[in-house]
Amino acid sequence: MRRGGKPVAKADLPRKICAGCGRPFAWRRKWARDWEAVRYCSDACREGRYGRAKNPPGPGLN
Ligand SMILES: [Zn+2]
Repeated sequence: MRRGGKPVAKADLPRKICAGCGRPFAWRRKWARDWEAVRYCSDACREGRYGRAKNPPGPGLN
């Protein structure tokens, strides 16, 4: 048996589902002021290029 165990709580951070990639992501400190407005887990998702390989935009269309 365990004693003195409150299940503590990194896991206690708020979470949201990313509107870009659809994955859950957890609160981050950089969003502390903005959490209500955060919809994406990353800049890539915000810009709509989630799930892509890192292809630099530019020439190379063939
Ligand atoms: Zn995402």
